[in-house]
Amino acid sequence: MTIRKNIEFDEINLAQDILKNGFKKGCLTIRELTILAKYYYNLGKTGNKLKKELIDFCEKNSVGFNEIAHRQTIIDAIKKAEKYNLKLSDDVPITISEMNIIRSLPMKYAKILFIMIVLAKYNKKNPTRKKEDYIFDKDKYYCNRNMRTIVGLARITMCEDEILTMCQFLAKENKHIKPIRERNSSYEILCINENSDTEIIIKDMGRIVEYFPPYCERCGIGIEKTGKRQKYCKECWKEVYKELNRERMRKKRDGIL
Ligand SMILES: [Zn+2]
Repeated sequence: MTIRKNIEFDEINLAQDILKNGFKKGCLTIRELTILAKYYYNLGKTGNKLKKELIDFCEKNSVGFNEIAHRQTIIDAIKKAEKYNLKLSDDVPITISEMNIIRSLPMKYAKILFIMIVLAKYNKKNPTRKKEDYIFDKDKYYCNRNMRTIVGLARITMCEDEILTMCQFLAKENKHIKPIRERNSSYEILCINENSDTEIIIKDMGRIVEYFPPYCERCGIGIEKTGKRQKYCKECWKEVYKELNRERMRKKRDGIL
């Protein structure tokens, strides 16, 4: 089962779509109205100008819109536009050094750390809030999504226990991530290295995991995936196959099979 997570990384595109085609369901949702408000705000429309734009648009495009009944909704959208940044679509480069750390991990953990690094780098370029948050150091990298969302973006399945074990592994054993005590679901990402050359560029934040390069889980070399269950390069598969065979022979000899 794939859960479609509602995360937007390109709000300009979304806002332009709303302006062109109206609200998806024919009447406003808070989410769409907020994106629109942020978009207008970004164009320099603030205060009463912004309010007028929003009301004009809703009157034309939202069934049952009433300026008085929706007064608070409009005010809330304006407040959010003042407080939060419009999310832009940005390329996110991942360096060789970062990929080498990722490749040293078991596949599931590797995908999770890959997503977290991408989100942290995106987040640094696209901070959610306009005002700096005293908890976060602007020179550091943070991933502010909960693990369920990250697992969803990695398109893997993990139960709660597995997620907990993974977080402990990445945080305590490897020290690749550090939970922020003051904020739930916030991690500082410690393995980012911008001084290394770029290996991958994420161009579509809506499909991060598709940029994850398959590699051999035994030796770390890149592989061309021909099957969903393929984990090893040809050379390693030969070795793994031999090991499996030896194991099977041993069991047979010991009368287990
Ligand atoms: Zn290999």
